[in-house]
Amino acid sequence: MKKHNFSAGPCILPKSVMEQAAAAVLDFDDGLSLLEVSHRSKPFVDVMENARSLALELLGLEGKGYKALFLQGGASMQFLMVALNLLEKRAGYLNTGTWSDKAIKEAKIYDDVYEVGSSKSANFNYIPKGYEIPEDYDYFHCTSNNTIFGTQMKSFPKSPIPMVCDMSSDIFSRQLDFSKFDLIYAGAQKNMGPAGTTLVVVREDILGKVSRKIPSIMDYKVHISKGSMFNTPPVFPVYVTMLTLQWLKDLGGIKAIEKENKKKANFIYSEIDLNPLFKGYSAKEDRSNMNATFTLENENLKETFEAMVKEAGINGLNGHRSVGGYRASMYNALSLDSVKVLVEVMSELESKA
Ligand SMILES: *Cc1c(COP(=O)(O)O)cnc(C)c1O
Repeated sequence: MKKHNFSAGPCILPKSVMEQAAAAVLDFDDGLSLLEVSHRSKPFVDVMENARSLALELLGLEGKGYKALFLQGGASMQFLMVALNLLEKRAGYLNTGTWSDKAIKEAKIYDDVYEVGSSKSANFNYIPKGYEIPEDYDYFHCTSNNTIFGTQMKSFPKSPIPMVCDMSSDIFSRQLDFSKFDLIYAGAQKNMGPAGTTLVVVREDILGKVSRKIPSIMDYKVHISKGSMFNTPPVFPVYVTMLTLQWLKDLGGIKAIEKENKKKANFIYSEIDLNPLFKGYSAKEDRSNMNATFTLENENLKETFEAMVKEAGINGLNGHRSVGGYRASMYNALSLDSVKVLVEVMSELESKA
């Protein structure tokens, strides 16, 4: 039976990518597995270089002073790595959810953090607006898409200081002027590959300005100078990420996938709004095109709904424990057809109720 994978992460990946990845595990280079060749061998160095340049190309950042790195430790490690490399006195953070909250906590270990805006008191169901970014801070940090609560920044401030963005859950899903950002990071497992690597895209000229000593493995400059091979890179996640980026490029890039992502989001949100049994969680104008969060109004229908969902082959629909209800994650590789299956189940529930 066909599965419809709405999981929030690790997430669905294109089937063709899975097949190529599986084949490379068995035979990547002349009978040797991808998992057993040296990361210094030419075939793997090519993979790393290709992944790095595809990332910059898709974001439209080639030749603009940016470097792409594939690091380990997840987006969670970037919470502290950003601060170690950029925080000298004070940074401004926009707190839009659990992930920003965690980023703030880690940065505070190193120095002063000021929350320029926060929607914490509303359990993060909207994106704060109209905040100001002080000119004399080291950098401004925001989270483009709030994976857990289902909100997404639809516009970004004109920041007078370097702008850092955690794009883990919506990178490569929509067109933005990426050159507005000075550092972008994203864990691969939401929209570009398997867990185990994190993409960092950084404008080189913002680095090297803090006075603290930075441990080599935490230093972006070190990783840049070593071509993202300071230590043994996670070969499999980097390879699969490269395949996914190539898949996206072949499809027509971010512009093409954004159209699909908008269709999918419109489809589910119109059902949520029209069907009296369901209620959207986040403020309408801030709704995420990646993660749609909603609740079932009548608790008595919970069992029936969940049985129907299972019957339809839908997977990964449970909401995060801090929100409850349901969350339909619609990353790049999820087809519109899968969203249609979910919407059908929702409307069928209405006709039964
Ligand atoms: C999942 C997620 C993270 C955490 O990523 P890890 O790679 O597990 O550390 C951070 N930020 C956002 C926005 C996320 O969605």
